[in-house]
Amino acid sequence: MKQRFDAIVVGAGPAGCACGYKLAEAGLEVLVVERGKFAGAKNMWGGAFYGPTLGELLPDFWEEAPIERSIARQKFSLLTPDSSVSVEFATNKFSQLPYNRFAVLRSKFDRWLASKVEQAGAIVATSLQADGLLHDGDRIVGIKAGGDELPADVVIACDGVNSILAEEAGLREEMSPQDMKQGVKEVIELPRKTIEQRFNLNGDEGIAWEFIGSCTRGLPGGAFIYTNKESLSVGLVVQLNALAEKQIKANDLLDEFKEHPAVANFLDGGKLVEYSAHLIPVSGVNMMPTLYTDGFLVAGDAAALVVGTGLILEGANFAIASGVSAAETVIKAKEKGDFSAKSLSFYQELLEQSFVLKDLRTYKKAPHFLENPRIYSTYPEFACDLAEKIFTNDGMPRKQLWSLLRESMKGRISFMQIASDALKAKGAL
Ligand SMILES: Cc1cc2nc3c(=O)[nH]c(=O)nc-3n(C[C@H](O)[C@H](O)[C@H](O)COP(=O)(O)OP(=O)(O)OC[C@H]3O[C@@H](n4cnc5c(N)ncnc54)[C@H](O)[C@@H]3O)c2cc1C
Repeated sequence: MKQRFDAIVVGAGPAGCACGYKLAEAGLEVLVVERGKFAGAKNMWGGAFYGPTLGELLPDFWEEAPIERSIARQKFSLLTPDSSVSVEFATNKFSQLPYNRFAVLRSKFDRWLASKVEQAGAIVATSLQADGLLHDGDRIVGIKAGGDELPADVVIACDGVNSILAEEAGLREEMSPQDMKQGVKEVIELPRKTIEQRFNLNGDEGIAWEFIGSCTRGLPGGAFIYTNKESLSVGLVVQLNALAEKQIKANDLLDEFKEHPAVANFLDGGKLVEYSAHLIPVSGVNMMPTLYTDGFLVAGDAAALVVGTGLILEGANFAIASGVSAAETVIKAKEKGDFSAKSLSFYQELLEQSFVLKDLRTYKKAPHFLENPRIYSTYPEFACDLAEKIFTNDGMPRKQLWSLLRESMKGRISFMQIASDALKAKGAL
């Protein structure tokens, strides 16, 4: 292997691939180091990712990328153990150009993305783990990997949520369980036709279906089902500290979720082909580390660039955008021959101008708001109880909707609490 690189990117997830691609495209000598046997081998996500950011880097990528389905429908359900109330948004616009959101399986998608990085001219070294950083005084000048010392002008840490490199560089502390959600997911195979009939899908269109309520036994978090071509991604994410406090295992919750009456029929006869678990940094800008130091930048989950609002969870497009901004910063630093922290601070400027830090700041209060236990127990119970009252005919004279509403609220929630939660939601979401 070459002795010195312009840049070493650690991690071939969305952040690392976007960064490596942009750097190689600009003619820099780039090494991307990935510990998995292949890019994507160890990676997981729910699987619904917004495309436009990648489209700016790789126009029309959907024509050749291993996309499962374009998501044209979004369904949202509130669950109690035996009932559910759902709303659904559907539009043909999202199953046509320009596509908005895609269902994707990481093992195929990351592998394809890494192949584009290689085509652009970077070396992608798989089965190679970065074990630490090389230092020259305060400056970072490369990495230690596989028993070798690999020097470079700059290192970009795209090594995901548990970034040991950002910690070693002194940019962040060990993450607290309060700032994390635990994600668990199963891929369940079903024939294509069965999926399309059960979920009422046309051709390659797909649905993203999210759930809150009893699926997490009232803990902060939610569950999801995303349709792939011939499989379903079924999983849930739950606040890590809440799981530990209540001594509940996320995979037990997933097993219960799959048995829920609103869900079980959709999964019936499916074959479990993959199980995975992963952490998500969910405190946004409140947990974001310093993003650069001499000879070093941090991007993607390693920098906690994820937005979760309860309705949406976006990380992949933030990873791609930050990887691109890190690359643009390095390209400029290379022109100046200056990889000092001052020169690399341009990275923060780029992120401040883009949706990345704007969105993280817009939703700064969302993580705290989403800790409110009423969201996961009281409101789903209230909605399901009210729906049951409205749709029950017990042979007695009917009551007005307002009376039913008051009955469903009784002992459960007050108007003051609803008004207070609505005000907090206004500030947070
Ligand atoms: C359950 C779950 C559901 C999610 N759902 C969605 C969703 O629907 N939509 C969405 O946009 N986002 C979603 N996300 C978030 C999204 O997955 C992440 O934000 C995104 O993958 C971050 O990309 P990344 O490249 O920064 O990190 P990662 O994807 O974690 O990639 C890091 C890479 O670095 C490698 N690596 C780590 N350490 C080293 C090392 N020392 N040496 C070499 N290689 C190393 C890893 O093997 C990996 O390939 C979800 C996440 C989870 C866990």
